[in-house]
Amino acid sequence: MVTVLQNLTFEQKKDDIKNKIEAKSISFDYDGIEILKNINLMIKEGEIIVFMGPSGSGKSTLLRLLIGLNSPKHGEILVNNQAISETLPDSSVVFQDYALFPWLTAEENIILALKQRVKKSKKELQQLAKSYLELVKLGHANKKYPGEMSGGMRQRAAIARALSVGSDLMFMDEPFGALDPVTRIQLQDLILQVNRDRQHTIVFVTHDAEEAIYIADRIVMFTPGPPGEIAEIIEVPFSKPRNRKQLFSTQEFNQFRDYVLDIMNKGIFEKLEEKLEVRTNGDWI
Ligand code: ADP
Ligand code: MG
Repeated sequence: MVTVLQNLTFEQKKDDIKNKIEAKSISFDYDGIEILKNINLMIKEGEIIVFMGPSGSGKSTLLRLLIGLNSPKHGEILVNNQAISETLPDSSVVFQDYALFPWLTAEENIILALKQRVKKSKKELQQLAKSYLELVKLGHANKKYPGEMSGGMRQRAAIARALSVGSDLMFMDEPFGALDPVTRIQLQDLILQVNRDRQHTIVFVTHDAEEAIYIADRIVMFTPGPPGEIAEIIEVPFSKPRNRKQLFSTQEFNQFRDYVLDIMNKGIFEKLEEKLEVRTNGDWI
């Protein structure tokens, strides 16, 4: 009886979760070359969605479209059920080389973002900035300039700045690609914490299958481009919160990682074969 009730509540809850982003039949060209083809994707509020796929498959391009920096050639993108061609939604971004302003301290970088949305005294802004820096375990470095910080610290500050923008939608394009493995793991946990505590929706791009599986609710696998298409949307079958050490030592994790990599490699091999066919049928062989 109790189980039935629990299940009911769970099902109900699942249905109650709103759509955050909806991409309908998206295609996109650069200079007449098709870069993205027929992208259909629904992202729920509070989900972490990871884009994976070989370089050139259009992951960053799709992010640009979802942020509203470029417009699709065909199709429509809705955020909070509103077409972004009409209302550009608030969102924050963190990129691999996301530069903080080098002439501003960590705290000042964040104050600059805060000033866009809140009217507060300088002292209050400083306190608020400090609280964001404390959240990313950088409270001690509030007066440091980016040049005085390590790559990991800079990326923490960039995340604090993204959070201070105050949007519940965050886009991250290979944000940890240049960091050492230990820092990378710490920042993955930070992202999971932000997502858990604040119910932020996060769209995250990575090449790293382990990173993808550890943080994602679902992985969107792209085919090699151009044009990039969605090869598969893979639900990650491990419940959250996840314990990295425990999870990574299970056979299920290893099998799932191989499964994810197989889907990516299958796309790459198919593309290579396609190219070989063109070559063997073409004039120039
Ligand atoms: P990914 O992020 O998956 O590596 P991108 O979205 O960066 O892929 O690129 C997808 C394709 O679009 C690539 O073939 C790339 O060369 C092309 N491309 C990206 N940006 C531009 C641009 N500004 N002008 C022309 N082509 C571009
Ligand atoms: Mg990219």
